Amino acid sequence: VLQVRGLSKSFGANTVLRGIDLDVPRGKVVALIGPSGSGKTTILRSLNGLETPDAGSVTVGARGTSADGAAGAAGGPGSEGGTGVEPVLPALTLDFGAKVTPREVAALRDRSAMVFQHYNLFPHLTVLQNVIEGPVRVQKRPRAEVVAEAEKLLDRVGLLEKKDAHPFELSGGQQQRVGIVRALALKPQLLLFDEPTSALDPELVDDVLEVIKELAEEGWTMVIVTHELAFARQTADEVVFMAGGVVVERGPASQVLRNPQEERTQAFVRRLL
Ligand code: ATP
Repeated sequence: VLQVRGLSKSFGANTVLRGIDLDVPRGKVVALIGPSGSGKTTILRSLNGLETPDAGSVTVGARGTSADGAAGAAGGPGSEGGTGVEPVLPALTLDFGAKVTPREVAALRDRSAMVFQHYNLFPHLTVLQNVIEGPVRVQKRPRAEVVAEAEKLLDRVGLLEKKDAHPFELSGGQQQRVGIVRALALKPQLLLFDEPTSALDPELVDDVLEVIKELAEEGWTMVIVTHELAFARQTADEVVFMAGGVVVERGPASQVLRNPQEERTQAFVRRLL
């Protein structure tokens, strides 16, 4: 689904990404790990059109074509209900080395949905309004259909009875589950998680990780920035260890986390496990 090549980004004199390559096949989960400041969040933000890289390219594959497999044709896992007919999307490549138009960036943003560390729910909207905002206002989908799907998704994470509550009335774990539902409601090709549990009290972490694990089992394609290495080992197909804006080591989760080859990975993993 996703192919990233040579992604580079500087903020002034601070070079944050130095030629990152990343491949995420359909239905696979890639965990990005690494020390603070290594550029993990900047990668996710670049994929979601929130940051414009200086160089490199991002390709998101086609969706809904016959060559695309059953999950793709259905518009992504978990999208049962609704009309069942999702728009066919051709592959999209943005080459940041050349001039990229705002329209292309908007097209890239539409392919993925992000779950933020601090949930980023709209405080003045109810839970349901938060979830339907993007599909109704941005994607212009029929409101009744979106509401029905949103209620199903909220029910799934145990929050249907909270649909008329405001974010401040919810625990952090509940807010983050709303954040996940809001991302799913967009029916993205790619789910991006930016340290989804690092702002939560320890006792609230597991409920959120459980939801993410279920999504992985359902076949969603995901990139997850996380410090939860046990979770990464259980959930990710591949682990990518970054430091100083480069990929230091990558491979199957069990290999990178249990038997890392690079010294920097060894030191990092030893400290966190
Ligand atoms: P963490 O685990 O702490 O979230 P990270 O690996 O996700 O770290 P990034 O958030 O991508 O790292 O940040 C990498 C570097 O880029 C940091 O030095 C940060 O200060 C810098 N940076 C990020 N965003 C901006 C910005 N908008 N303007 C200036 N510098 C930025």
